[in-house]
Amino acid sequence: MTLLRIENLTATYGVSQALFGVDLEMSEGQVTALMGRNGMGKTTTVKAICRMIRSEGTLTLDGQDLHALPSHKVARQGVGLVPEGRRCFADLTVRENLIAAARPGYWSLGRVTDLFPRLAERQTQRAVSLSGGEQQMLAIGRALMTNPRLLILDEATEGLAPIVRQEIWAALHRLRQETNVAILLIDKSIKELASVSDRAVILERGRTVWSGKMDELTSDISEKYVGV
Ligand code: ATP
Repeated sequence: MTLLRIENLTATYGVSQALFGVDLEMSEGQVTALMGRNGMGKTTTVKAICRMIRSEGTLTLDGQDLHALPSHKVARQGVGLVPEGRRCFADLTVRENLIAAARPGYWSLGRVTDLFPRLAERQTQRAVSLSGGEQQMLAIGRALMTNPRLLILDEATEGLAPIVRQEIWAALHRLRQETNVAILLIDKSIKELASVSDRAVILERGRTVWSGKMDELTSDISEKYVGV
């Protein structure tokens, strides 16, 4: 069943248009990679979904028009965003950060710390004292605590040590296998991205130029639009 439907989405920053026609469809439980070179509109698409930028076109979650909602209600509809540059409450502990985000549902403190054991060890530490990778895990944990139907990760592994990146990819594989959450991923690690994603959508200058199953994405297409 279609969870997220985006058709012919356009968006502008003031007078400068950034999206010219994005199409993207996601089903429950599916992992989709949102790909394209720098500046092609990936983050802007995410901002449009989260209503952080004005956009036009079709934008529905489970049939409900997201355009009708203000940004703070989008989370309540089931969209969990881990934005570029992790954001947690620096002065709160790991545990407090997680509890502050909680909404009723499958995810609990115990389930999040089972997914990210490092967070279990650091429950009473303040977020500010965590490593970059641990803060990113906490940011993902916080998004999960809201019990999203759609989880969006924008460059979640950017700038992290290889070992921590692996832990985050492993957690995403587990989410894919063990839960029904739909995941939209933006990431520069194309190999890992390809291995966890069911589908890919490629943007070029604010437009969807290719979408399909990840295993149908040929090297010709990815060379042309993604540069690898
Ligand atoms: P990156 O990987 O570099 O983040 P991206 O695919 O996420 O790339 P966007 O950040 O969505 O790309 O940018 C799409 C276009 O919108 C670019 O031309 C960019 O310069 C422009 N843009 C992004 N943010 C703003 C802003 N705050 N104000 C004006 N233009 C912006």
